[in-house]
Amino acid sequence: MRLRAMYDVVVVGGGVVGCAVARRFVLEGAKVALLEKGADILSGASKGNSAILHTGFDAPTGSLELACMQAGYAEYMDIRARLRLPVLETGAVVAAWNEEELAKLPGIVQTAHANGVTDVRQIAPDEVLAREPRLSPHVLGGVLVPHEHVIDPWSAPLAYALQALVNGGEVRRNTVVLSGHFANGMWRLETNTGTVECTTVINCAGLYGDILDQRLTGEENFAIKPRKGQFVVFDKAAARHLRTILLPVPTERTKGIVITPTAFGNLLVGPTAEEQDSRDHAAVDEETLRMLVDKAVELVPSLEGMGVTAVYAGVRPATERKEYRVRHETARNYIVLGGIRSTGLTAALGLARHAWKLYARMHERLTNPIWPQAPRLAEHCPRDWQTPGYGEIVCHCEMVTQREIEVTLTGPLPAQDYNGLKRRTRAGMGRCQGFYCNARVAEMTAGRFANPLAVGGTHG
Ligand SMILES: Cc1cc2nc3c(=O)[nH]c(=O)nc-3n(C[C@H](O)[C@H](O)[C@H](O)COP(=O)(O)OP(=O)(O)OC[C@H]3O[C@@H](n4cnc5c(N)ncnc54)[C@H](O)[C@@H]3O)c2cc1C
Repeated sequence: MRLRAMYDVVVVGGGVVGCAVARRFVLEGAKVALLEKGADILSGASKGNSAILHTGFDAPTGSLELACMQAGYAEYMDIRARLRLPVLETGAVVAAWNEEELAKLPGIVQTAHANGVTDVRQIAPDEVLAREPRLSPHVLGGVLVPHEHVIDPWSAPLAYALQALVNGGEVRRNTVVLSGHFANGMWRLETNTGTVECTTVINCAGLYGDILDQRLTGEENFAIKPRKGQFVVFDKAAARHLRTILLPVPTERTKGIVITPTAFGNLLVGPTAEEQDSRDHAAVDEETLRMLVDKAVELVPSLEGMGVTAVYAGVRPATERKEYRVRHETARNYIVLGGIRSTGLTAALGLARHAWKLYARMHERLTNPIWPQAPRLAEHCPRDWQTPGYGEIVCHCEMVTQREIEVTLTGPLPAQDYNGLKRRTRAGMGRCQGFYCNARVAEMTAGRFANPLAVGGTHG
């Protein structure tokens, strides 16, 4: 006898990919649960990245990665106004600083055109400098990528998860999938909070994708090789020194160190590409941070002496191969979206569509989905404090209001820890890093978090 499963689909992992997949499957009419082991969504690779919405100009031609990035980019642009998600229209320049790099520029343009990004063109040094006058005059030329842009890396996945939730999906945090068994067309997943049954499992476990894959299939299909990237965030005053994303000529192994404006009005330099064993620890070290600051000053000399707001590191779910590790097993209703290494923020919506195609079985599509509104965090868009009735300003560095914090603590997907609150409001992410507002935030969140924010102290 065939039993009816609790869910059509369980998505394991609430990173940007899992949030986008849950949204897509809910919108297609499936009964979906998103299971995330962290106290909040974005507990893995998706919590720290460069936030660039890539055109795919430099992706491997004909690859699944390129297709998903371009589908993801197009869908983001299509849905962003309805979810109130920002785009900072920066464009990018790949700058050449020596003859060897200069010689590579025509090849970069050729790849871009082969990838369908036909507005990409090589530009002379005077055009680079006319666009970015504070750049070092040593630049030898560049490739202009007009539609490479910047987004808010946290509001986008939050909006995807929220849309899944308010249209009938479930999001269960603090839920770790420990093992699973497939029989009679149904999965039984053992979690720390009990058994969950479903017809199909989609593994979006990011940095733990290989371990979950092994737990569910009993096979070793790929291996995650964590690759850390460190960043320095310059003060908001730095933002006027560069308006375009400044990309290096990439090497075989890495896209290299980027200097980019952020949606929050800062300037970011990074990331590095450092292999490490730990999937969780994203430590920063002084020598590397100094190197990043020096690199930024070398390319944009007016940044000399510029203050630093924050430093952080993210870990990419790289594998032993370059390409995405996407697999579909029809025999056991299983899809893995693994090894989404360095382009997942862009590709997530495209990957979700790809997974839906793989899933193939038709469900009734939601005809009139609800479109929740993402937090207003981007500096170039209207902020909450500009609308009356916000109560008090709680975080003065980032101009975060009492109303914004209250909203974050209620609603269908409230913040469950201080990091979740920060990603939804930016409270404590400004120049003083929470020194002044932590006490008030602790007061406002009293009794809400399992791990409370200590009054007058920083959070562990
Ligand atoms: C330094 C850096 C810079 C980047 N820059 C960019 C950029 O500019 N543009 C861009 O498009 N992309 C960028 N990326 C890539 C992007 O951030 C990643 O591709 C993306 O975050 C991968 O998301 P994911 O959902 O696959 O994995 P994750 O974010 O790791 O999500 C997986 C989730 O699964 C959960 N989980 C794991 N195991 C279990 C389990 N057993 N049960 C339940 N839950 C589980 C984890 O807690 C985690 O939240 C960058 C990445 C890094 C690190």
